[in-house]
Amino acid sequence: TQAPVNVTVTGAAGQIGYALLFRIASGQLLGQDTPVKLRLLEIPQAVKAAEGTALELEDGAFPLLSGIDIFDDAKQAFAGVNVALLVGARPRTKGMERGDLLEANGGIFKPQGEAINAGAADDVKVLVVGNPANTNALIAQSHAPDVPADRFTAMTRLDHNRAVAQLAKKLGVAVADVKKLTIWGNHSATQYPDIFHAEVGGKNAAEAVGDQSWIADEFIPRVAKRGAEIIEARGASSAASAANAAIDHVYDWVNGTAEGDWVSMGIPSDGSYGVPEGLISSFPVTTKDGKYEIVQGLDIDAFSRERIDASVRELSEERDAVKQLGLV
Ligand code: NDP
Repeated sequence: TQAPVNVTVTGAAGQIGYALLFRIASGQLLGQDTPVKLRLLEIPQAVKAAEGTALELEDGAFPLLSGIDIFDDAKQAFAGVNVALLVGARPRTKGMERGDLLEANGGIFKPQGEAINAGAADDVKVLVVGNPANTNALIAQSHAPDVPADRFTAMTRLDHNRAVAQLAKKLGVAVADVKKLTIWGNHSATQYPDIFHAEVGGKNAAEAVGDQSWIADEFIPRVAKRGAEIIEARGASSAASAANAAIDHVYDWVNGTAEGDWVSMGIPSDGSYGVPEGLISSFPVTTKDGKYEIVQGLDIDAFSRERIDASVRELSEERDAVKQLGLV
């Protein structure tokens, strides 16, 4: 049998962590043939809560779970890591300026990048979930010069899945019938969910909708503001759906996308589609053998161009801000 894969989860005692860990242990992150070893990282005050979750994981008697270790030290938590899920982050609190938020997160993601650089396995794959995810990923990546930059990714899969579900609902089709949808840009309110290349039952999705005002005035803002809608309804931010998207992101990265479809991932830009090189921006990607490739050659019309550019501008501003703070 295969040796266990080391999966490090930060913020393990949080809401997303609670929903995520059981699914990793059950084999949904990497597949039913792959045993996993969990390495949980928490801040010292939350270690006890993480230990409680570990007791429950033990009680799951998961055949694929071959061990759980808990740390409050990043160097130890990332030693030998194959898959790193960076969930813990500093949330924006009332009265906090964007610069303060970026700085607080720099204090988290810089040492985590250094720890990954120092101790990760050669095949390490990193997914940043904690917000602002794209820029947190950029900070971590810039402090891991010995790890190929393309191993650092940010999660836009929840946005992708939300968009697929909304489109399927609008057209009265099954979610499995929706293919080739794209989230472009930042995981923020400026993100651009693009259905102009999407297909529904083999037909172009935008043509099937046939109503540009639904796309501009309902669909795009609905997807972009879905997080707020969840908070309003649940009284807490989305957690299980975010964990689900993290599972999807890594599973597809490792196991490959289906023929005739693609997914959205926040990845370091190679300059494709006019996105400045190095920014961690969401693109349509296909995956195979543990590697991803940007889908090339899509026609970008003026409607899409304007929205991609606006979100990428925000990413550039975030990069400038963390540069000024000396974080990248
Ligand atoms: P959650 O588990 O709910 O969220 C964790 C992070 O995921 C937040 O940054 C959150 O951003 C982000 N996120 C990304 N996408 C989504 C989404 N669609 N919906 C909701 N959240 C999303 O936070 P908790 O406060 O419950 O838990 C955080 C844990 O992290 C705590 O236990 C804390 O101790 C720990 N932590 C650990 C650190 C470490 O290991 N070094 C460092 C910092 C914190 P947003 O805030 O924008 O919702």
